[in-house]
Amino acid sequence: MTLTINEIFYSIQGESSRAGERCVFVRLTACDLRCTWCDTAYAFTEGRKMPLDDIVASVASHPCDLVEITGGEPLLQKPVVALMERLLALGKTVMVETGGHLPIHDLPPAVIRIVDVKCPGSGEASRMHWPNLDVLTPRDEVKFVVGDRADYEYARDVIRRHDLGTRCAAVHLAPVHGSTDLQALAAWMLEDAVPARFQVQLHKYIWGPEVRGV
Ligand code: SF4
Repeated sequence: MTLTINEIFYSIQGESSRAGERCVFVRLTACDLRCTWCDTAYAFTEGRKMPLDDIVASVASHPCDLVEITGGEPLLQKPVVALMERLLALGKTVMVETGGHLPIHDLPPAVIRIVDVKCPGSGEASRMHWPNLDVLTPRDEVKFVVGDRADYEYARDVIRRHDLGTRCAAVHLAPVHGSTDLQALAAWMLEDAVPARFQVQLHKYIWGPEVRGV
């Protein structure tokens, strides 16, 4: 069994409620979305096939129990479920970040699912698989990348309509790095008392926005 892998690396988690913790990242190749602000376009095609055993060995070589499977879109490759099961069996805490357009209901229950809801500014909002929000549990997280006021209002309304603030572990509003007005987003969140966290991408402040594999 193989997966096409873009990169595996050990770093500081830059996003989610685990931001700031040490984490091993497994980035899978390919994505069927094209978000306007995508910062991992290099993962659309670059990568190499790796046997599951080699992927697990690479992850296990790092002194870290937190693993994030990401992309690209990690759920496009079906053997990713077997990888999750192997990592869970090793005692790892496994997170997966998905674009929100593919079903998440059949992933192993112990996996922490971080589901993106694409806002209008991404150009991909219409692709959302809305039933994903119905199967969220208190261990899962939701992320909205917010480019402007219209994106913010979209996110705020989805959060309210689906009661996300009480149904999952965390909801993140993430500005587009380098373009969203940070102070405006903070003011909107405060004014509306939206039950979400303001999430910057920590890794871009540590290593710079263009550095890969960190
Ligand atoms: S889903 Fe992620 S990898 Fe795919 S285009 Fe959007 S930001 Fe890029």
